[in-house]
Amino acid sequence: MKTLKWTLRYQLLAPLTLLVSLSVTYLLWQHEQRNALLDQQERADFNLREASSSIEQRIAAYEQVLRGVQGLFAASGKVKRGEFKTYVDSLQLGADFAGIEGIGFLQWVPHAEKAQHIAAQQEQGLAQYQIRPEGEREFYAPVIQLELFAGRNRLMFGLDPYAEPLRRAAMEQARDSGDATITSKLELLLEADAQAGSQPGFVMFLPVYAKGLSHDNPVARRAALSGWVVASLRINKLMASLYGERAGSAQIKIYDGVRMAEQSLLYDSTGASEVATTQRGEAVEYLEVAGRTWALELGSLPDMDTPLSKDNSRLIGLAGIALSLLLTLLTWMLATGRSRALALAREMTQELRESETRLRHQAEHDALTELPNRALFSDHLTHALAQARRNKSRLALMFIDLDKFKPINDTLGHHVGDALLQVVARRLQGCVRESDIVGRLGGDEFVVLLPAIESEHDALRVAEKIRESLNQPFELEGELPLSISSSTGIAVYPEHGSDEVQLSKNADTAMYQAKDRGRNRVQLYCPKVIERHTAQ
Ligand code: GH3
Ligand code: MG
Repeated sequence: MKTLKWTLRYQLLAPLTLLVSLSVTYLLWQHEQRNALLDQQERADFNLREASSSIEQRIAAYEQVLRGVQGLFAASGKVKRGEFKTYVDSLQLGADFAGIEGIGFLQWVPHAEKAQHIAAQQEQGLAQYQIRPEGEREFYAPVIQLELFAGRNRLMFGLDPYAEPLRRAAMEQARDSGDATITSKLELLLEADAQAGSQPGFVMFLPVYAKGLSHDNPVARRAALSGWVVASLRINKLMASLYGERAGSAQIKIYDGVRMAEQSLLYDSTGASEVATTQRGEAVEYLEVAGRTWALELGSLPDMDTPLSKDNSRLIGLAGIALSLLLTLLTWMLATGRSRALALAREMTQELRESETRLRHQAEHDALTELPNRALFSDHLTHALAQARRNKSRLALMFIDLDKFKPINDTLGHHVGDALLQVVARRLQGCVRESDIVGRLGGDEFVVLLPAIESEHDALRVAEKIRESLNQPFELEGELPLSISSSTGIAVYPEHGSDEVQLSKNADTAMYQAKDRGRNRVQLYCPKVIERHTAQ
């Protein structure tokens, strides 16, 4: 019972090991996946911070440029076109300021001064100068200075952004706050004129106040306003100069305002035609740029996941499963080792016993007829004699030799002789009882031991039965029926000998007596016949 319990426990060990090792593998795999995800999230956060800080820096740089222009106007009051151009050229706005389409100045013109303003501008060489859009308004803010980096700036003179609500809102905010202010998302006018396609952009305004007038509060600022320094900016160029045309593995989207709606989308790094796919590593940051709030959304593209961290979890999973299986196999081998060794030992013992039995059988039996050989028969005889001595009973020993057997061998072949000997052995066994022993001493000579007989007549009767049985024709396979005869000599204990040697000798003698007397007969040992035989 105890062994069974232990066996059961050992058998449970392997599945238990598998369960535990697979669970550990699963936990490690999950941990690694979580780490990879956190890593990705951290990277996305870092990218987002980096992106927002570089955008803020760039906008601050634009503002700085405008502040320089503002300084120019604030210092001199009136700036001629040539001077403005020289100043802007000297700024050398290269790649670090990509996105600026043009820098200009808008003059603040109340309605009362409109005609005077137009006349002054026409005098300064712009013969066609008019304020556009036309119409009577309370205030105007036409472009009077402009340096474009592409397109024709002359076409732009006189345009009044103050007449357009989006621009007007930013201009008023700049005027009242004194700070640089950008518009919400809009189509740049200069782009439409230059037929540069409709790409979203924004305009930055910085107020210029009249020289010598105080502008430390909104009311004073309104009174002192003389115009705005303005810059048109294209978001795509700005972002391309920061990140290249495509932003690597990250998708960057910039929305104007805090609502991330399609119509407020300022910029999308994947291009407008592509479907927005920001499922993984999604992060949003809001940045304050020149009086407006932008929402910056950063997502990783589906096919751009970091392969290193993903591979790690897969590697851990596969290696874990392989190690678990190996461990389970080892555990199974160790746990079942004892029982497998025992089974093997049992199997080997069994084989040993069988081969022992086989060897003993071979040592004690005649190979041709399977009858006990001389050694085994001798044992039986010794044993039977001892018993007969104890019981004071009789036993008979018969020597049976086939008559003229040699000629069969010689004429029909050794194999026919062998087959005949085998049938003879079976017939002999058929003529005696279970307790009687039939043996083969060698050649064509057989022995029969009858361990318990009443008188010599019993032995004679059995011997006659044997003689008659052997007289019957032998039907051997492929041969014509064969007829043989036999000569039998009988010695009876205790009359014809008290020991094995004497009895054997006398039975043999009696057999030769039978041969001498013409064969095919049974001869009980008779000393007188011998005497007569030797006398002849
Ligand atoms: P006898 O009547 O005097 O006995 O004449 P026999 O021809 O039988 O002569 P004997 O008994 O002396 O010879 C026995 C022969 O049996 C001798 C041998 O050729 C043959 N013999 C002995 N052992 C075997 C055997 O295992 N197989 C076969 N086929 N023949 C055997
Ligand atoms: Mg013979």
